[in-house]
Amino acid sequence: MVDLGLQYQTMQAEIDEAIRKVIDSQSFIKGEFVGQFESHLQDYLHVKHVIGVSSGTSALYLALLALQIGEGDEVIVPSFTFVATAEAVVLVGAKPVFADVDWETMNIDVADVERKITPKIKAIIPVHLYGLCADMQAILALANKHSIAVVEDACQSMGSKCKLEGEYKHAGTLGKIGCTSFFPSKNLGCYGDGGAVFTDDDALANLVRSLANHGMGNRKYHSEQVGINSRLDTLQAAILDVKLRHLDTFLQKRRQVAKNYEKALEHEPHFLLPQYDENSHSFHQYTLRIVDCSREKVQKSLSQAGIASAVYYPEPIHLQPAYAFLGYKKGDLPVTEKLCDSVLSLPMYPELSEQQVAFICEKLVESLTL
Ligand SMILES: *Cc1c(COP(=O)(O)O)cnc(C)c1O
Repeated sequence: MVDLGLQYQTMQAEIDEAIRKVIDSQSFIKGEFVGQFESHLQDYLHVKHVIGVSSGTSALYLALLALQIGEGDEVIVPSFTFVATAEAVVLVGAKPVFADVDWETMNIDVADVERKITPKIKAIIPVHLYGLCADMQAILALANKHSIAVVEDACQSMGSKCKLEGEYKHAGTLGKIGCTSFFPSKNLGCYGDGGAVFTDDDALANLVRSLANHGMGNRKYHSEQVGINSRLDTLQAAILDVKLRHLDTFLQKRRQVAKNYEKALEHEPHFLLPQYDENSHSFHQYTLRIVDCSREKVQKSLSQAGIASAVYYPEPIHLQPAYAFLGYKKGDLPVTEKLCDSVLSLPMYPELSEQQVAFICEKLVESLTL
């Protein structure tokens, strides 16, 4: 699905030097490299605060903690996402309320969100799935009307820009708090686990920073609240700082790969292609919806040709055993359930060549005739 080794080769000298600098400094926790990366990412995203944390999951967890969401509160999330979106809600003691998604964008369906708003709902977590911006204009309007916080799950959408009142802003910077992941295969990935929280709110930023470091402020060994150890690793920050310099090039290449797929597949009625505009999609994944034919057969014949493909996600969260206690049943979220049976993601990474895409598409089309 990705070839991270190939990407490393394109910036090996820079990354090796960054790693060596951290080791030379012997400053492995926090320190100047974390601060530098945070400040560079702030400039890139045009956001006031970036707080590096230990993963995307911790970013979501800390964001909810900082908003003081907990016992007795409810949070609207999609069920068609990676499990961490809902997991964070349960971990802070609140209850996830699942909204369905839209068949075309595969992002949260705002009309269903509206139907599910009650006085107990304290936040909405839209996910910019596969790198495509959720309808932030409508979500923010709805959230403002009901005084509900919007926490963006921007784990798949580093570099995507969402339209708000005719202007494009970076995904993760439109809501009250944004969360991202630097998992190796994400758009901006490190060489281990990592994540970040974005916000323009000074008080929230201080709180997240403190919560991620045992509830301590500037005074060491003096906790102002119960926190946790969720800091971004210094080696990872140094690697990310190098990769951030290349991010726009990577994004441009991802968009070109998407265009190559589109050109080859746009006339295939069994493959529904991602819907997007130029800015709003960063193509973390290139995901087809396969209709009126067997996805299993398509995937099998790709595999026989040595081509990777993946289903993100085969099982909606609301039907998974860990979430059975919420009481959902099959049929509750029909679009989500249908997407779980239809989606197929194709290899997607900046270095994927035009010839490789042509080969993948040839095998894809061939699979329909087998
Ligand atoms: C990757 C991902 C996460 C979790 O990020 P980690 O860094 O792996 O903890 C959360 N939400 C979504 C949508 C993701 O894709």
